[in-house]
Amino acid sequence: MGNEADGAEAGDTRKPRGINTRLAHIGHDPRSFHGFVNPPIARGSTVLFPDAGTMERRDQAYTYGTRGTPTHTALENAVNELEGSAGTILLPSGLAAVTIPLLAFAEAGGHALITDAIYNPTRRMADSLLKRFGMEVEYYDPVIGAGIERLMRPNTKIVFTEAPASNTFEMQDIPAIAAVARAHGAVTMMDNTYATPLFFKPLDHGVDISIHAATKYPAGHADILMGFVSANQRCWERLHDAHITLGCPAHPEDAYLVLRGLRTMGVRLERHQRSTLEVSRWLKGEKGVAQVLNPALPDDPHHALFARDFCGSTSVFSIVLDGTGDARRDKAKAHAFLDALKIFGLGYSWGGYESLAVHVWLGDRTVSRADYGGPVIRLQIGLEDVADLQEDLTKGLAAAARV
Ligand SMILES: *Cc1c(COP(=O)(O)O)cnc(C)c1O
Repeated sequence: MGNEADGAEAGDTRKPRGINTRLAHIGHDPRSFHGFVNPPIARGSTVLFPDAGTMERRDQAYTYGTRGTPTHTALENAVNELEGSAGTILLPSGLAAVTIPLLAFAEAGGHALITDAIYNPTRRMADSLLKRFGMEVEYYDPVIGAGIERLMRPNTKIVFTEAPASNTFEMQDIPAIAAVARAHGAVTMMDNTYATPLFFKPLDHGVDISIHAATKYPAGHADILMGFVSANQRCWERLHDAHITLGCPAHPEDAYLVLRGLRTMGVRLERHQRSTLEVSRWLKGEKGVAQVLNPALPDDPHHALFARDFCGSTSVFSIVLDGTGDARRDKAKAHAFLDALKIFGLGYSWGGYESLAVHVWLGDRTVSRADYGGPVIRLQIGLEDVADLQEDLTKGLAAAARV
């Protein structure tokens, strides 16, 4: 749905409000539903029209369930307000929020440039469906920056970015990449799941399409799958049309719950940020940790770009355990580390209230293969108390040291 005002009163001086104030009030106007603070959950396929003429013209706000409900509108308005977008679509998973825009802008005979440090299921989609639809897919080094110019071709339609990189957390020079793409008539997409629109607003940096796994921070409780895709004016119509054409709406109950999640996202992110920085800094000094991959740390090689463009950090980063020089022993070390953890769960995803750990697989990389010298473990720092998390990680490091 298209962008709307944030519900400010007439005569408001329009001084921008603080982010937590906006998160508390965006999307739904209580007066539009009998004063209830939260929007209704509108379940429905059929929507009735008052007469045949209205039905023929489809001249009303809602016409059929796949085209959205007032619950969807409330969340879409909220996301538009945060992203500064012309419109937002809601999808039943974060992965669908990647695949739908790729399908929307794919054209037979076209060329797509995709960062090599991409979320793996995005690569899977690009290497299968996109190629089958006649797109040429090329992976580029995530740190290429303005150097992407030399990879641009007359038929380049899509430049796909993700920062920081999945699992290895390299930063991308998003404004430089987006400027080159725009000069060549290509659409720039960014998977912005890490930062949320609170810490990075892609459309303000030249990106056309901002993608989120709302499953992560917006939902925040590991109980919902959802994706957001927000577009600028230039790309909105085509994106919206693809969404309607493919018929994959998010569930209204989930839209309701994700809007509820947004209300507390600011305070949750403050806590995630504080704890994650504390744990990252502490891990840097711990025995058995060879490297901490977190661009929010001032001595990280990617920190300069991070500090220039992002205004906050969130809850995921990776550590490299001391390597043994033997791949099988490294794997045993990673497993010993993970198996010793009691508070950290072993599971995918992140952005929920609970801490998680996963042994990262980097075997899919093509142009940006790097040897980290030891097993890479990705950590998500939840909302638990830092001292307890440190105690848990200490157990993991002790177990790894015994391998
Ligand atoms: C989790 C994730 C997705 C996919 O989200 P799902 O809701 O799990 O499908 C996409 N991109 C990134 C960067 C993610 O971390």
